[in-house]
Parts: sequence; C-alpha cells; structure tokens
Amino acid sequence: MTTPRQLLAESGLDAVDARVLLQFALQVNRAWLIGHGNDEVAPAAAAAFTALAERRRAGEPVAYLVGSREFYGRDFAVNPAVLIPRPETELLVELALARAAQGARLVDLGTGSGCIPITLKLERADLAVSAVDISAEALAVARGNATALGAEVRMMASDWFAALAGEAFDVIVSNPPYIVAGDHHLAQGDLRFEPQGALTDFADGLAHIRVIVAGAQDHLAPGGWLLFEHGFDQGEASRALLTGAGYVEVQTWTDLAGLDRVSGGRLA
Ligand code: GLN
Repeated sequence: MTTPRQLLAESGLDAVDARVLLQFALQVNRAWLIGHGNDEVAPAAAAAFTALAERRRAGEPVAYLVGSREFYGRDFAVNPAVLIPRPETELLVELALARAAQGARLVDLGTGSGCIPITLKLERADLAVSAVDISAEALAVARGNATALGAEVRMMASDWFAALAGEAFDVIVSNPPYIVAGDHHLAQGDLRFEPQGALTDFADGLAHIRVIVAGAQDHLAPGGWLLFEHGFDQGEASRALLTGAGYVEVQTWTDLAGLDRVSGGRLA
C-alpha cells in the first residue's frame, strides 16, 4: 500500500513543493495531510502525484502545476499565459493604496493574472479600477480571477495606453516586463516556463518603462501618481527617466529583501 508519507519521501522534491503537489493531487489541505500520513492513497491519486512530481523535477513551476498562486492573501488562478504573481509586487499594491484618495481612479498596465487591480479593488471598494493587457489569453485569466474573487474591475485589451485615449487616472501602476534581453535569469527556474514577453522587453530592460513614463503624462490627473516595479539595478535609471519627464517627489522604494523594487513620482 502507498501512503502520503511514502509519496513525499520518495518524490525527490523540495519538501514544500512535494507537500503542495500532494495536497493538490489528493485534494486535501495541510492539516489533513498531517493527520493522515499513514493512510492508504488511492492508486489514481498516487499516480496523479507521481506525474506532477515528475513534471516538477523537470522544472515546471508549482504554480502552473496546481493552477494557482497566493497574492496578498488571496488565491489567483494562473496558467502559462501569465506571469506568476510575486510577493515583491505586494509593495506596489501597498504604495498605490496609500496614495489613492476616496473614489480615486486607478489603472494597471500589463495586468497579467490581474493580481494587482483585483487586490486594489478588494482592499478598497471605493476605488474605480481598470486594467489593460496586450494579451487576450492573459485578459481571459484576469477576467476569470475578477469573477471568481468578486472584484469589479474594468479590463481591456490594450498596448499600454493605446485603448485609453482621453482617459485620466489618479494613480497609474504597472509591473512591466523589465528584464534585460539575454539576462541569465531568463534561462533559470520558473522563468523558463513563464511568457517571455511578460518578463523581458527583449532590449535594455527599460524600453517599456520609457513608454510608460512618457505616456502616463497624458493620462494622469493633476497631482496623480505613477508607480512601477523594476529590477534591483534599475532604480537610478528609473528616477532619471521620471525626473527628466518632469515628475516630482520622485522616489524609489525597496522590497523586503532591501532591493530597489518600485519607483514613482507625481505630476504637479
Ligand atoms: N501585473 C502582473 C503581475 O504583477 C503581470 C506582470 C507582468 O506580466 N509583467 O504579476
């Protein structure tokens, strides 16, 4: 007979990865697993786990294997059409929430799974939240998440500001593709399986940031904030772009690891 304990011990995986995949294969929670480590596992469930473990050993991200990832305390559905939400991005959400007045209009550019705008709306029902993405597949994921989590977010297909002509927002946020073309991280870990167009601009890493910094000037209400995520080594370049474009109160914030992660400024 096969037990959960045995499956975990023989998986050859990191302990947390193995546990999350086994919970998914057995459709049980962590508490159940702790109490039933020596129960018999049905052959079909054991086979399902073994197949998932093999894919994980070949590198596939756990989030894609189980189809979801937690962000800001909620589960978001993900698939290989969208970037897997990262804990660092919660900083961007917090900074936006702190700057959004009652009833403020916010937009997230390049929304992917929709983790940013959906979280903004669920944290603050008073906000009017919009989101755009160039990818129809990503928008389908984002819309599914908004429905599943009960968040009213306007979502549109758009290449950055293209579909937002004439619209003004109080806060513009984005976690754009900012990895430099050819960066070794793109060939490592989970990133190998994520959409390359969501990770890199296939250029110097700042191409999309330049478009966003320039374009936001035409879409920010007076005093409005632009906040965007970037790489640990892009803080200085980001501030220079913002200052050069006339933004004020230009600043970079660090993530929990102490790395430059978000920059922003406001238009006077
Ligand atoms: N906004 C999404 C996130 O932060 C997607 C970002 C992206 O694909 N670059 O996870």
